[in-house]
Amino acid sequence: MLAGTETIATIANHWLAKFERALAESDRVLLETLFHPDSHWRDVLALTWGIRTVNGLDAILSELETHAGRANPSGFRIDSHRTAPRQVTRAGTAAIEAIFKFETAEGRGSGVLRLIPDANDGNTLKAWTLLTALDEIKGFEERVGRSRPKGESYSRDFRGPNWLDLRKSAAEYAEREPVVLVVGGGQAGLSIAARLAQLDVDTLIVDRGQRIGDNWRNRYHALTLHNQVQVNHLPYMPFPPNWPTYIPKDKLAGWFEAYVESMELNYWTATEFAGGAYNEAEGRWSVVLRRADGTKRELHPRHVVMATGVSGIPNFPDIPTLRNFRGKILHSSQYDDGEAWKGKNVLVVGTGNSGHDIAQDLYSSGAKVTLVQRSSTLIVNIEPSAQLPYALYDEGTPLEDCDLITTSIPLSLARKSHIAFTEQAKNLDKELLDRLERVGFKLDFGEEGTGWQFKYLTRGGGYYFNVGCSDLIAAGEIGLVQFSDIAAFVAEGARMRTGETLGADLIVLATGYKGQEHLVSKLFGDAVAVRVGPIWGFGDEQELRNMFTRTAQPGLWFIAGSLAQCRIYSKYLALQIKACEVGLLPRVGAVPDLKEAAVDARPRHRGTSKVF
Ligand SMILES: Cc1cc2nc3c(=O)[nH]c(=O)nc-3n(C[C@H](O)[C@H](O)[C@H](O)COP(=O)(O)OP(=O)(O)OC[C@H]3O[C@@H](n4cnc5c(N)ncnc54)[C@H](O)[C@@H]3O)c2cc1C
Repeated sequence: MLAGTETIATIANHWLAKFERALAESDRVLLETLFHPDSHWRDVLALTWGIRTVNGLDAILSELETHAGRANPSGFRIDSHRTAPRQVTRAGTAAIEAIFKFETAEGRGSGVLRLIPDANDGNTLKAWTLLTALDEIKGFEERVGRSRPKGESYSRDFRGPNWLDLRKSAAEYAEREPVVLVVGGGQAGLSIAARLAQLDVDTLIVDRGQRIGDNWRNRYHALTLHNQVQVNHLPYMPFPPNWPTYIPKDKLAGWFEAYVESMELNYWTATEFAGGAYNEAEGRWSVVLRRADGTKRELHPRHVVMATGVSGIPNFPDIPTLRNFRGKILHSSQYDDGEAWKGKNVLVVGTGNSGHDIAQDLYSSGAKVTLVQRSSTLIVNIEPSAQLPYALYDEGTPLEDCDLITTSIPLSLARKSHIAFTEQAKNLDKELLDRLERVGFKLDFGEEGTGWQFKYLTRGGGYYFNVGCSDLIAAGEIGLVQFSDIAAFVAEGARMRTGETLGADLIVLATGYKGQEHLVSKLFGDAVAVRVGPIWGFGDEQELRNMFTRTAQPGLWFIAGSLAQCRIYSKYLALQIKACEVGLLPRVGAVPDLKEAAVDARPRHRGTSKVF
C-alpha cells in the first residue's frame, strides 16, 4: 500500500501544486525533491514542441529549466472528468497513477503522473514517470462537441449549393491548392486527414488504389484483424459496439469508405504520387500526381505527409541461383490468391507474417507448400498471447485515457513490460513452440527477449501471430526447410545440400520491404533522403526516428503504424502542422547527424505486421 490515510488524489494534487510552484519560481531545490533518482519525463509537444523522452533526475531538471520559462505551464490539477487517481502496477512496479490537466502559454494539455517511494529519502513519494502532452492550441481548438459546426450556412440558403455540392467542389481542388497532401489512404492517411480536418487545415488524400479500403480488400481471403476491436478504433468514430472482436478485412475496408464520407475527407482514388520537389523560397512543394485516366496533375501543398505504410519498395533478396529457376517467382506483394496453384508445389521463402499467411492460403487452396526459413522467427499465438499488451484496453477505462496512459510509458519501461509479456507468452505457447522446434523451426524471442512489439518497432517484422499456420507446420502439413540447407536453386526448384531436389512450380519471396528511406529517395531524391535520415526504429534515441514529428526537410512528415498508433499520434502530428501554419512552430526539425543520416541501404524485413 503506497498511500496511507491521505487519499491518492490529495497526494497527487499536492505533488502537482509543488511542481507548478517549482517551475514558476525556477526553484531547482524544490524541483529536485519531486523527482525520483530513476525518473522519466516524456513531453509530447506541450513544453518542448517535440516528442521527447528525458531520463534521469539531472537531465529532467535541466530540460525543465530550459523549456518551462517559454512554455509557462500552469493550472496543474487532477482532471476530475477522467479516470481517477489509482494504484497500479506498470512495468512490474507499483505506483500511484494520476491523470491531470494543465495549460501553457500556447495550449492546453493533459498528462500522467506516476509516484513511487524513494527508499533513500524516507520513502517520500516522488515522480517516477511524468507525461506532459498537448491537447489543443489556444484559439485553434477542434470544432467538436459544443463547438461543433452549426450548419445554418447550408440549410438557410435554399438556392445555393447544398452540403453535397460543397463537398464535391471542395474535393476537386479545381481552383485552390490543398495545404496538406497526404500520400496513402490507409489507416495512417485517414487518421491524420481526419485530425487535420478538425483543425481546419485543408487536406487532400491521394491513394493509388481504385477504391477506398482496397489496401485491406486486396489482402488474403480469410484475413481478420489481429488486434481486438477495442484497440483498433479510428479517431472520432469508434466501431459500433456490436462489431465482432476480430474485424474481417472487407468489413474494415467498407468502414474506411464510410469514414471518409462521414469525416468529410477529400480523397482521390486511383491517383499515384509520382514525386515532388520543395521550393525553399516559396515554402511549398511541387508534386506530380498521376491519375488513372493517364492525366497528370501538379499541386503545390505546403506539407506532404507520407502515409504509405510498408507497401513501398519490395525487398528482393540477392540469391544469384534464383535465375536458374524455370517456374514463376512472385514477391509477396504480387501474390493475391492461391486458387491457381491447386495441386502445385510451392516454396515460400520467409517466415514472417506474410510468409506464414501466404503458405496457409496456398495450403488451403490445395497446393503442396514448403516454407523456407532464412532466420529465427518469433511465434506467438494470436490468442491469448498476442493480446497480452492490450489488457489495459479491456478493463473498462475510457479509450482516451487508455491512449494517454499508453503514451505515458517511456521506452525503457515499455521494454521491461514487453520482456514480461514475452516470458508470459512463452509459457502460454509452450506446447506449440516445443512442437515447432521438434520439426526444426528456429525460434527467437526478440532482442533481449523484448518480443514481437520491439521487433516491429525496430525492424518492422521477424515474427508471426499464429492463426493456424504454425500448427500446420508442426503437424507436417506444411513443409519446412532451412535456407542454409539449400545448395542452389535449379530449373525445377531447390537443390538441397543432401543432393535431393525440392520441386517447385512457384516460389514466393515473402522477404519484406525496403525501409521508407528508399521510398523517400525515389520520390524526393537522394538529397532529401540524406537530409531526413533513417525513418522508424530507434537508433540511439528514445523515440521512433522521424515519425509523427518535424523532420529535417521542411514540410515533409511521416505517419505509420498500427491503428492505435495512428489514432494516438495523428493528433500530435496534426497539432504540429497546425502550429506551423499559424506561425507557432518553424517547419524544420532538428538536423540529424549526417553520418547517421546516410541512407541506410540494409534491407528491412517489413512484412505485414502490426503493433501499437
Ligand atoms: C493479417 C493482418 C492483421 C492485422 N491486424 C492488425 C490489427 O489488428 N491492428 C492493427 O493496428 N494492425 C493490424 N495489421 C497491420 C496494419 O494494419 C497494416 O500494416 C496497415 O495496413 C498499415 O496501415 P498504413 O495506413 O500505414 O499503410 P497501408 O494500409 O499499407 O496503406 C498505405 C496506402 O498507401 C498507398 N500508396 C503507397 N504508395 C503510394 C503512392 N506513391 N501514391 C499513392 N498511394 C500510395 C497504398 O495504395 C495504400 O493504400 C494487420 C495486418 C495483417 C496483414
